[in-house]
Parts: sequence; structure tokens; C-alpha cells
Amino acid sequence: MAEETLFTKIIKHEIPSNIIYEDDTVTAFTDINPKAQHHILIVPHKPIPSIAEVQPEDEQVLGHLLVVARKIATELGVNESGYRLVVNVGRDGGQEVPHLHVHLLAGGRLGGLGFPQA
Ligand code: AMP
Repeated sequence: MAEETLFTKIIKHEIPSNIIYEDDTVTAFTDINPKAQHHILIVPHKPIPSIAEVQPEDEQVLGHLLVVARKIATELGVNESGYRLVVNVGRDGGQEVPHLHVHLLAGGRLGGLGFPQA
């Protein structure tokens, strides 16, 4: 059996985290190293490694991630003022944890997305 990802351990409450939302399909918790006033990670329970490995049958899960993002943004009070959703993909995309996740960043005006690093 494949080893559990860090995020699967968080989803199963095996390691501590600040979970702010959970249902049968996704769990959302605060990022341990926040890059904005609000930095939430929304993670599907299915351990899809990245967008690069998404399959057609994952469509519903992917849609649900965005529906939950909107719900959390509303609860944070930023759904009207705006926020950013980011999905890092693979090495060049800066993905560190090989378990698909959406970053929700909010709180004030966010900076630019940035060019590749030197
Ligand atoms: P990514 O680079 O897109 O794979 O993002 C992984 C994110 O997971 C980073 O923003 C990390 O700060 C965050 N992270 C790593 N370990 C933990 C943890 N134990 N609890 C919460 N967030 C974490």
C-alpha cells in the first residue's frame, strides 16, 4: 500500500492542524507557513498527487474544491472583496506536497504572481 501523504494524515486527524472545514470529500485547514492574512489549504480526501495526474472521474471532486473555496471565502468575509486561489503543479510550479490542494489566500490587496525565479 502506498504511504499516506502528510495531508492524508491531517485529514485523518493523525497529526495536528487547524481544520476549519471538513465534509465527506474535502478538508480545509490553515497553512502552517501563511503567505497572506488568511491562507487556507483545501484538500480532497482522494490522494490525487497533482493536477498533472487528474483523471476524468475526478471532475466532481475538483468542482467541489472550488465550491468549498467559495464557502470558506464567504465565511472569511472576503467573497465580495476578493481573494486568490492557487494550485501549484509539479516541480516548476513550486508544488511541495504531492497531494493535490487549492491555496486560498486573502486579506488586503495581494501582490503579483511573479516571474520564474533565477
Ligand atoms: P505546495 O507548495 O503548493 O505543495 O503547498 C504546500 C503547503 O503546505 C505550503 O504552503 C506549506 O506551508 C504547507 N504545509 C506544509 N506542512 C503543513 C502542515 N503540517 N500543516 C499545514 N500546512 C502545511
